Amino acid sequence: MGGGFAGLQAARKLARAPVTITLLDRHNHHVFQPLLYQVATAGLSPGDIASPIRWILSKQQNVRVLLADVAHVALAKRQVYLEDGVGIPYDFLILATGAAHSYFGRDDWQSHAPGLKTLDDALAVRRRVLLAFEQAERQPDPERQRHLLTFVVVGGGPTGVELAGTLIEIARHTLRREYDTIDPESARVVLIEAGSSILGTFPKPLRDSARRALRRLGVEVWENATVTEIEADAVHVGGDRVPAHTILWAAGVAASPLARTLGVPLDRAGRVIVEPDLTVPGFPNVFVAGDLARFTHQTGNPLPGVAQVAKQGGAHAAKSIRRRLKGQDALPFHYRDMGNMATVGRAAAVADLGWLQLTGFVAWLFWLFVHIFFLIGFRNRVSVLLQWASSYLTYQRSVRLITGPSPDSDVTPRNSAGC
Ligand SMILES: Cc1cc2nc3c(=O)[nH]c(=O)nc-3n(C[C@H](O)[C@H](O)[C@H](O)COP(=O)(O)OP(=O)(O)OC[C@H]3O[C@@H](n4cnc5c(N)ncnc54)[C@H](O)[C@@H]3O)c2cc1C
Repeated sequence: MGGGFAGLQAARKLARAPVTITLLDRHNHHVFQPLLYQVATAGLSPGDIASPIRWILSKQQNVRVLLADVAHVALAKRQVYLEDGVGIPYDFLILATGAAHSYFGRDDWQSHAPGLKTLDDALAVRRRVLLAFEQAERQPDPERQRHLLTFVVVGGGPTGVELAGTLIEIARHTLRREYDTIDPESARVVLIEAGSSILGTFPKPLRDSARRALRRLGVEVWENATVTEIEADAVHVGGDRVPAHTILWAAGVAASPLARTLGVPLDRAGRVIVEPDLTVPGFPNVFVAGDLARFTHQTGNPLPGVAQVAKQGGAHAAKSIRRRLKGQDALPFHYRDMGNMATVGRAAAVADLGWLQLTGFVAWLFWLFVHIFFLIGFRNRVSVLLQWASSYLTYQRSVRLITGPSPDSDVTPRNSAGC
């Protein structure tokens, strides 16, 4: 279940096993989530970072792909039930439906501060950001203009840092000479992090480097700053009210709600607490991989919700199934940490490879090649590389398209006559 990093890897690693695989996903495409922020900030098109699951697995004979929303799983009956009530029986199950946004119990914030998880989210953010500049251009009141040109990103993890760095560059460079009334360079981007530092999981020198780089670009970095309220047009941090037209959420994730239908122990984030071999306690034929699993057996702490954990988990589940078909026991999962990376704007990054820490342009080059390498599809790789090269040289963001309902429904008229 799930055609993300974990599910796809599991299906591929079972290509030569004597099994028939059904891969279920509610979307017809696999998304390379680490580059979603590029779609949200108009640097890449959706097709550059996503591919149809059916196409990815088209050469694999033993798999069928179904576009289906899974409603619940009956572990005792060995059945997966789809939204339309159809039941699908299984011998082995790999649960890999990932994670969703978490607003820490304040789901009412979601409409004011959208998050980034799917292609639809990314396109909605792109529209919101680009429309803010258009609305500001038609706004005669300088106070309202300032409000429209204030962007707040909540959450200083890699996604928040990447969004904030890119937003400020769009304002200061990409759009610089394109508007008559407004000065996009005056845009304000505020990155708010509740913890003591942005990029909290990175070593201190890299955190410091990223903070310096963001501030050099013009981002206001607020640390030890807990968001206490979000309204349609403002964020509250303690006693401060920050008026902002565009508020983006990059602060929290919770496991896919499907886990709650299993009736097994979950952690506070809703993840399934798995055995050392990634199986569900009491159900040795059911594996959980990726963001949906809470695996603490290696270090005592849960593994992070990153693509490598998901891919290796999916591959491990597939290997365990192959072993079990041969009458062998499943082995414990062991995660090989390949490092952590985040970009800061157009041509800087931080990379922690454990044995080596990189910052600045070298880290960015490393980040670029790793992401190109892991993207699925030759066409995607070439297209992304060309667009990054062009954006590096010219600061341009090639996909600055406002799509969706008529923009006029969102644009504030210049005067009461709407002229
Ligand atoms: C904006 C963003 C940036 C990120 N950046 C990085 C990064 O730089 N580096 C990194 O390593 N990781 C990054 N991550 C994390 C990484 O993408 C995840 O850890 C990884 O995608 C988890 O893989 P998964 O297979 O568990 O879940 P996913 O990749 O999320 O896949 C889950 C799949 O399940 C499907 N699904 C969900 N519910 C259902 C249902 N009920 N029925 C049917 N199908 C369902 C979904 O459609 C989806 O295709 C980022 C994540 C996000 C959101």
